Amino acid sequence: MAYQHRSLAGDSLALPLGKIVCIGRNYLDHIRELNNAVPETPILFMKPATALAALDEPIRLPVGRGECHHEVELAVLVGRELRQADAHAARQAVAGYGIALDLTLRDLQSELKKKGHPWETAKAFDGACPLSPFLPPDALPDPQVTDLELQVNGETRQRGNTRQMMVGVFDLMAYISTHFTLQAGDVVLTGTPAGVGPLRAGDQLQLILADHAFAAQVA
Ligand code: ZN
Repeated sequence: MAYQHRSLAGDSLALPLGKIVCIGRNYLDHIRELNNAVPETPILFMKPATALAALDEPIRLPVGRGECHHEVELAVLVGRELRQADAHAARQAVAGYGIALDLTLRDLQSELKKKGHPWETAKAFDGACPLSPFLPPDALPDPQVTDLELQVNGETRQRGNTRQMMVGVFDLMAYISTHFTLQAGDVVLTGTPAGVGPLRAGDQLQLILADHAFAAQVA
């Protein structure tokens, strides 16, 4: 089924599909596990709308391109245009919160990093952003103090809290909007805590955002 932004109740939301703007290295523990340097300013990259996939559809990993890693992340759905916005305006523009996987072909990304090349072939492939339905903005008491967790086959692989972000959700949206416009229907992925690792065929996943759990499965 073609991807659409949906509410928790399963209704399709009246927002178009747009770009997905992601931040690299926003949780210190994840920076350390990949031996990366702490960035002075946020590292932004994008996935196209063709990367979007509903979390309840089987996740299709690219074949023959090395390890595909999970990165569990808080996802923010943008409800209205943001250009040169401040953090307050960014918060007002949120249409919902979800949980996503920033799927990453890690072997390929490592090669690209060595060469100083962009990451798109490792991160922007079709289906590279499995995404949950969206909770309404008021469903998270404090989006900046929210637990997120990924279990694979019943084992916790990643667990974090959004308070560990180096750049907070709304500051990040504001920063993005100083470089390019965020439009209604765009999604912002806010970085991943430590514990990234490879997915395998048949893996059963649980993605947990606050007290909402979403099941997924690797095809
Ligand atoms: Zn990521």
